[in-house]
Amino acid sequence: MYYVINIILLIVLGLVVGSFNNVCIYRLPRKESIVYPASHCPYCNTRISTKDNIPLLSYFLLKGRCRNCKNKISLQYPVVEFLNAIIYLLLYLKYGFRVQTLVYMALSSALIIIAFIDFKEEIIPNEISLPGIVIGLMISFLVKHISVWDSALGIVTGGGAILFIALIGEWLFKKEAMGGGDIKLAAMIGAFLGWRYTSLSLFFGYLLGALTGIVLIILKMKNRGETIPFGPFIVAGSLIAILIGDKILFWYLGG
Ligand SMILES: [Zn+2]
Repeated sequence: MYYVINIILLIVLGLVVGSFNNVCIYRLPRKESIVYPASHCPYCNTRISTKDNIPLLSYFLLKGRCRNCKNKISLQYPVVEFLNAIIYLLLYLKYGFRVQTLVYMALSSALIIIAFIDFKEEIIPNEISLPGIVIGLMISFLVKHISVWDSALGIVTGGGAILFIALIGEWLFKKEAMGGGDIKLAAMIGAFLGWRYTSLSLFFGYLLGALTGIVLIILKMKNRGETIPFGPFIVAGSLIAILIGDKILFWYLGG
């Protein structure tokens, strides 16, 4: 019973934080405050009442439209809320109730915000990645699951790997394929995950990015040489590393 209540509370928390993620995804690139004012419809500017602002539920009750102007609400809203809640649940099921789980929950929410902003605006906000590097390193002083040494090495591994690949890419293709935003994002992930899981995150990120790129070129949705934002793939890679990285390393090392 205790277990069931925990899971329900966790899903509710995941949905509420997911709803806040949406606010950040919309407002951070616009340099607006993330706490004030309350949510408004982006079309008619009507303030969204509390009963229409219930994560996931309101979207379906309103059939995906603003109550006032009937314009379509982006599918991004329920998707981000759902994704955030599912990741919280998976983290709890994997790591149980401990500090490491809370740290990974906070990290995952920050990564979801970054992935969606990069996907939509093709920028990775320094407002998250730079404090993220510092906070990740500071946390390593306080917790047991990652050492300070591993966190610092993670920053260097993550940032360094992307910088190295970016330089090679520039030299090969004579144009910028990856930006400073990706370097800072990888350094932030490194600070939280340490060098092993960061390497794994980047490996999966590149794999997913390459596969997606090939599919988009085959479907003629992108031309060869056109770039796609890389942040969402690094984020997906690190979520994979957090959730099943231990199994992959175990398998890979022939354990
Ligand atoms: Zn409206």
